[in-house]
Amino acid sequence: MEMGILAKANAKKLLKKYFIKDPAKLDLYAIAGYEDLFIEERDLFTSEGQLVVKEGMGIITVDDKIIEKGQKKFTIAHEMGHFFNSGKKNGSYFCSGLDIRGIKQDITAEIDANDFAAELLMPEEWIVNFTKGKKFGKKLLSETAEYFDISLSAAALRYAEIGNHPVAVIMSKDGVVKWSRINKYFTFHFIRNGSKINDLSYAYEFFKGEKITDEPEEILADAWFREDFNYKKDYFLYEQNIPMYRYNSVLTLLWEK
Ligand SMILES: [Zn+2]
Repeated sequence: MEMGILAKANAKKLLKKYFIKDPAKLDLYAIAGYEDLFIEERDLFTSEGQLVVKEGMGIITVDDKIIEKGQKKFTIAHEMGHFFNSGKKNGSYFCSGLDIRGIKQDITAEIDANDFAAELLMPEEWIVNFTKGKKFGKKLLSETAEYFDISLSAAALRYAEIGNHPVAVIMSKDGVVKWSRINKYFTFHFIRNGSKINDLSYAYEFFKGEKITDEPEEILADAWFREDFNYKKDYFLYEQNIPMYRYNSVLTLLWEK
């Protein structure tokens, strides 16, 4: 079975149960209340979100240092994911920012919790309808983030997953590629995990400590795809970066002109 299918189904079930048809009607606190889940905020040290489940009841704790509304919402949805994905079984989860922001992707339960959160906050059908016929770019991502009341990086990841324009999304941390997701219709397909960020790219400037623009910029394919089978000389792409300063990470979007 494809990973995350169950997690996505759990999120869909919840939306259906409470007759939620658009983002404005999605109230995580109300759902939590009906589902024996309590949400509190407190200063956490090593995690950004926690969940403790006992006898079918859960307590979600969110780090009160998270200021951005969209990130707080995603963190709550992520912890709800653990609650529903585990079938409300007794247990506890201590989730780091790297887990919740999807920077690190090595624990199945964490990936599933993120899949749940993405489907709950940005159901596939709604995203498809919202982005249909619209030109891909920074403006569309900002509009999507605003409409769904989520962070720009969450909108970008979701778009890369199900949007209709071929884009590549690359997560890098400390100057190294952690992972990438490349739409199958994109010209290039291969970026090696663990490879160093190429100094031709704009993302490289972020790791050099320079201030970078979040505007799309033209870039040679060489900056990212020199190892690709389809490598072409003098081929231009757009590159746009979403810095995550707290994690020394950057989410890079690439798309074709
Ligand atoms: Zn988690």
